[in-house]
Amino acid sequence: MNILHAAAQDGDSPDGLRKKFFSHVPGRLWNDWRWQMRSRVRTIEQLSQYMPLSHEQQEQLSFVTAKYPLSITPYYLCLMNTVDPDDPIKRQAVPDTQETALCSFGDEDPLAEAELSPVPGLVHRYPDRALIITSNICPVHCRHCNRKRQWRQGPWIQTDTALAPMLDYIKNTPQIRDVILSGGDPLTFATGRLERIISALRNIAHVEIIRIGTRYPVTLPQRITVELCSMLTKYGPIWVNTHFNHPRELTPEATAACQRLLRAGMPVNNQCVLLRGVNDTLEVQEALCRGLLKINVRPYYLFHTDDVQGTEHLRTPVEAGIAIMAGLRGTVSGLGLPTYVVDLPGGGGKVPLQPDYLISGSDSEYVFRNHKGKICRYRNPAG
Ligand SMILES: *Cc1c(COP(=O)(O)O)cnc(C)c1O
Repeated sequence: MNILHAAAQDGDSPDGLRKKFFSHVPGRLWNDWRWQMRSRVRTIEQLSQYMPLSHEQQEQLSFVTAKYPLSITPYYLCLMNTVDPDDPIKRQAVPDTQETALCSFGDEDPLAEAELSPVPGLVHRYPDRALIITSNICPVHCRHCNRKRQWRQGPWIQTDTALAPMLDYIKNTPQIRDVILSGGDPLTFATGRLERIISALRNIAHVEIIRIGTRYPVTLPQRITVELCSMLTKYGPIWVNTHFNHPRELTPEATAACQRLLRAGMPVNNQCVLLRGVNDTLEVQEALCRGLLKINVRPYYLFHTDDVQGTEHLRTPVEAGIAIMAGLRGTVSGLGLPTYVVDLPGGGGKVPLQPDYLISGSDSEYVFRNHKGKICRYRNPAG
């Protein structure tokens, strides 16, 4: 009870929460990503030490975690206002009874990744790009994860035996220029093991760029060590795509992690997911996009939430995203405007969406609506 009361006072201060909950942890451990991994909150009972949960709520949530397990790093836990039921950080990581209550909506694998896998673990949807699912382990289980179907299997990491056919496939498919390490989070690998995979990819002449899709900068920034960055820097060009969803995630620690990656030569781009009650307002998206630009991270995509079973409560109508894009255009630097995309079911691919700026077009004239709603005519040169 004491702890909860204290948390209420310090609710929006990560430092305050760290002091309340983890004051006994020396900085040496707190900043050690392996300690953060070992100390993740994995059960509802553990969770109840940090936030008010009635006995009944605990029982209901245990039912949810039997299907969709829970994982939260101490670091990410401290970003939450644990006593606020609508806290946007909590909504991303604390299980919700609606995950199972609304399970008649959506598919387990809406993007048909399994069908688009020529070898297990590798998704080949676009001719020039291949995606490797490196593991199913992440520091934090995002409740909106589009691969949450894979959590049930218990934690796994691809073995060398499983990776070999994927590397062979890439080697034998010269159209592939861009390999995306995805997951689960690829930075879960020990740095040495990750280096072996990346150097194997680098040895394939037609692989021009390597991308790493990781949420570590957001959920466990301590993982972005100097050692990791100096390893990665040897194998560039490497592009890092991360996943900030809310301006409150832009902490000094997360900023420092992004700076280390950037200084080591890796551009950092952000892939945000539009989430109901988290970031589905213009105010939050504006603060997020501006905040990202301030730390040199480029907003790349704003994803409409995929039609994934167990995420319905976090999904918004498509119009919500289009309205946000309309609001951002003209008020945020063009550099800070993500492309809003829907990833089509069945592996149809990503489709960009934006407000209609084009009203009509003919051989001689185009008519546009600008970001302020003003109608403008534009002479169309002869073809
Ligand atoms: C999103 C995705 C890519 C990369 O798409 P970009 O638009 O190039 O970022 C590649 N392969 C798969 C399977 C994807 O889902």
